[in-house]
Amino acid sequence: MNIHEYQAKQLFKEFAIPAPQGAVATTPEQAQQAAQSLSTPAWVVKAQIHAGARGKAGGVKVARTLDEVKDYSAAMLGTRLVTHQTDAAGLPVNSVWVEEASAISQEYYLSLLLDRESERLIFIASAAGGMDIEAVAAETPEKIVRVPVHPAAGLQPYQCRQVAAALGLGKEQQSQLQTIMNGLYQLFLAKDASQIEINPLIQTDDGKLVALDGKINFDDNAIPLHPDIAAMRDASQEDAKEAEAKQFDLNYITLDGNIGCMVNGAGLAMATMDMVKLKGGAPANFLDVGGGTNKDKVKAAFKLILSDGTTKAVLVNIFGGIVKCDVIAAGILAAVEEMHLTIPVVVRLEGTNVEQGLAMLKDSGLGLYAAEDLNSAAEQAVKLAEGVA
Ligand code: GDP
Ligand code: MN
Repeated sequence: MNIHEYQAKQLFKEFAIPAPQGAVATTPEQAQQAAQSLSTPAWVVKAQIHAGARGKAGGVKVARTLDEVKDYSAAMLGTRLVTHQTDAAGLPVNSVWVEEASAISQEYYLSLLLDRESERLIFIASAAGGMDIEAVAAETPEKIVRVPVHPAAGLQPYQCRQVAAALGLGKEQQSQLQTIMNGLYQLFLAKDASQIEINPLIQTDDGKLVALDGKINFDDNAIPLHPDIAAMRDASQEDAKEAEAKQFDLNYITLDGNIGCMVNGAGLAMATMDMVKLKGGAPANFLDVGGGTNKDKVKAAFKLILSDGTTKAVLVNIFGGIVKCDVIAAGILAAVEEMHLTIPVVVRLEGTNVEQGLAMLKDSGLGLYAAEDLNSAAEQAVKLAEGVA
């Protein structure tokens, strides 16, 4: 899960990582008031979206007057910002962050992330900050330093000195960097982050290291442990379908075929997609409805599968292990009936009470295709999709 820059900066403050003073606003008037409450000669108005590269896209503006703060905010709020990190539709700007402008003498890059290869948290730093770090890595990899942290030993002072040396910092800034790196490390562990990025980390004209930007990504599996982080979720920034899927505890990914797949278990879902391909069809989605399937979940799943109108047939492939097949069949029937489905639905059930489940589907009069096995289910779904298309 991603959060906004202003939320990242709140967390930075909690962990002693210096960031500029500021306030969040959802209207131009609020933005102006926020600016007024900050004693500073200039402000920066920053569009809050879950993507970077806002600066080049007009989403970061330095304002010299309160009127400029209002004008820039008005120009950003209510629009969609397209950056080279978003898709062509961009992301909605529902809030702006107004902060005191900083006088920059140097821009650095600093991040902390989980490196699966070394199985450690790793600091990545570069004196070439403020720019696209992927480009730096590709063109001048020698400008990037990587410092893995041993999980038992934790972050060591010599490692902070190593990063400070790579950034060419003076003695004064070296100790500031140590505070920042310690803060990042504590924050990462305390909140189950998966990536924290400060780009740029700046040195101000008066020699202070400050996090000018902040991006934090959290491990989705750990979100239930952190209500404070969960409360920071902004669904408006997420893929609408995937956000809806999350609400119902469904794992959903859109694909470009025309056979909707509703399956329980990620492995079975993969096998089902393979089977559809083998029979000459193309899946419209990956969908794992999870173990405890019920009517509401099945309904939500059908809705997702049918929402973009490209699906010509649905293949339901469910193993009744945790939930019995007759209960699943009842859920499918209720969902199909309530939703008035008009496209063919092929159902393959296996597991406890499978005979009862199949009989319910056959006797329902809803025109469902109850398949004997996965092979014939996939074959039938592909044929039906072709027939409708
Ligand atoms: P991003 O483009 O989404 O990564 O947004 P950033 O927060 O990183 O801002 C982009 C760029 O705007 C920075 O690299 C800075 O060069 C510039 N910028 C942001 N805030 C300030 C500021 O307070 N003062 C000055 N002079 N430049 C700033
Ligand atoms: Mn940035």
